[in-house]
Amino acid sequence: MAVYECLSDIASKIIANKDFLTELDREIGDSDHGINLSRGFTAVLEKVNKDEQDIGVSLKKAGMTLLSTVGGASGPLYGTAYMEAAKVLSGKTELNAQDFLAALDAAIAGIQKRGKAVKGEKTMLDAIIPAREAYAHELDNNASLINALEAAIKAAREGVEYTKTIIATKGRASYLGERSIGHQDPGATSSTFTLEAILDYLKGKA
Ligand code: ADP
Ligand code: MG
Repeated sequence: MAVYECLSDIASKIIANKDFLTELDREIGDSDHGINLSRGFTAVLEKVNKDEQDIGVSLKKAGMTLLSTVGGASGPLYGTAYMEAAKVLSGKTELNAQDFLAALDAAIAGIQKRGKAVKGEKTMLDAIIPAREAYAHELDNNASLINALEAAIKAAREGVEYTKTIIATKGRASYLGERSIGHQDPGATSSTFTLEAILDYLKGKA
């Protein structure tokens, strides 16, 4: 599997939504989330080898690049997520449904180790953790990777909606306290876009 193509789909989705993500961050942060991630994913496409088949190798390169180019809070968090996912997918050239769950788990563990947040603090975890739970639930019912990912995205979108209703207690948005209510979290939004791009990639390949 040329992971480059999937990363390219993620990059396109993030870059297409650059202004939207930045606008969300203007409301509860410092107006740079879309800019940060677009810069990072542009660099990822320059660094990742187009022909590399080892998923772990490509994701590790992507993670290191995000870590060094995105900046802000989200750079180290996304960087760590990709690098931790890379570890569990190391040596694999194809991704099955179980692999994707292992990668999601590793990514979440990395984000939590680094950012010390839990669900309900109005961060990217409020999309990713429910997505992981929905995904695992579908796998238990023998769903395919694509069907489980569809359920995960539905849960992630609900998670994004949920972030509108809660107070931020981590990251820059926490400075706003109650005033963060009513606004959706930029990182939860960008992580949902990431899952959507992965699904589109897998559907295109299927
Ligand atoms: P910064 O806040 O430094 O400007 P970004 O704007 O790029 O960085 O990213 C902001 C996003 O990072 C938030 O919307 C939130 O989802 C995520 N975030 C911030 N702190 C944490 C944390 N401790 N754990 C998980 N996600 C976090
Ligand atoms: Mg910001």
